Amino acid sequence: MKFGTKVIHAGIEPDPSTGAIMTPIFQTSTFVQEAPGKHKGFQYARTANPTRQALENNLAALENGAAGICFSSGLAALDAILKLLSPGDQVISTNDLYGGSFRLMNQVFKKFGVDFKFIDLQNVNDITKYITNKTKMIWIETPTNPMLSIVDIKAVAESVSGNNILICVDNTFATPYLQNPLDLGADLVLHSATKYLGGHSDVIHGAVVTKTRELADQLYFIQNAAGAIPGPQDCFLVLRGIKTLHIRVQRACENAYKIALFLKNHPKISKVYYPGLEDHPNHNVASNQMRMFGGMLSFDLVENTFDAAKRVLRNTHYFSLAESLGGVESLIGHPATMTHGSIPKEERLKVGLTDSLIRVSVGIEDVDDLMNDLNASLG
Ligand SMILES: *Cc1c(COP(=O)(O)O)cnc(C)c1O
Repeated sequence: MKFGTKVIHAGIEPDPSTGAIMTPIFQTSTFVQEAPGKHKGFQYARTANPTRQALENNLAALENGAAGICFSSGLAALDAILKLLSPGDQVISTNDLYGGSFRLMNQVFKKFGVDFKFIDLQNVNDITKYITNKTKMIWIETPTNPMLSIVDIKAVAESVSGNNILICVDNTFATPYLQNPLDLGADLVLHSATKYLGGHSDVIHGAVVTKTRELADQLYFIQNAAGAIPGPQDCFLVLRGIKTLHIRVQRACENAYKIALFLKNHPKISKVYYPGLEDHPNHNVASNQMRMFGGMLSFDLVENTFDAAKRVLRNTHYFSLAESLGGVESLIGHPATMTHGSIPKEERLKVGLTDSLIRVSVGIEDVDDLMNDLNASLG
């Protein structure tokens, strides 16, 4: 089955009791049993719910994995993954990562004795220097947020193979339409389905897709034991969003590429970060591991002050000033004070996250309107 068919059909059957083509929202906490131990595969909705199960099966197919496991948010999904670890274990992670992921690692799991090293995973050769017998996990985000750096997933997986280290990839920015980390050697893929998978800025949701059944069983155990599950209505919204994923992401990529070129030639812009530009340092890696280059881009201003950034952020009309990304509507944000406010300034500046850096999530509106909007706000 090809991708455009999978998004609509994989794991989804018409409801057997009514024929409803859309997976019903099974808004129920429990399921009646005929006799003790005799049931239809569902007992209590924390453990399994049919709406959630349809989504989990669909996500597994989209990422070419063994199973999908859904959570109440992307960070709840990361929380479950980190619970695979034990005190004393070490994680090597991308240094330029989603602020909430950094906070969960550095302020919650560190307290329980898990050690985190945040390094620039673009330099694949550096990784082996940090590997010890305590290293149990590599955490990759690519493209990264908000610098749009690209990590070579296959090269990272190959460089540590044979050491029993879990390779995990946060695939939120790329989506399974553009990039399939399990095919490149990863063991686990994380999605904040809040973003492109849901796609309409109306739900908070997260998921993990595993390469093996064994990893899936461990995560199902944590999902049921810790209980950070999504409700059935949220699963329904993500299922519905996914049906148009390929079309939405394709349009967002086309729009983002045109906007990147336009900004690159704009006199008020000093730098554009977009993996689709040929002068992006890892453009070749992106070309190999992604089908298109995504709908996210960042840019910096010639006048590199917070005030200059504020002027742009206040003046756009179609780009709404808001956190989040991946919806049909374009958003604009200021990473230093918004998504990355919890990262210390020294850490931010090391990766180029200045006070004048602006990030946009390009939506699927008409691209001419979007470019005119940015042009006017740049003054
Ligand atoms: C939003 C996001 C998350 C967290 O997901 P939530 O659904 O907000 O909990 C994790 N990683 C990336 C890259 C994100 O953009």
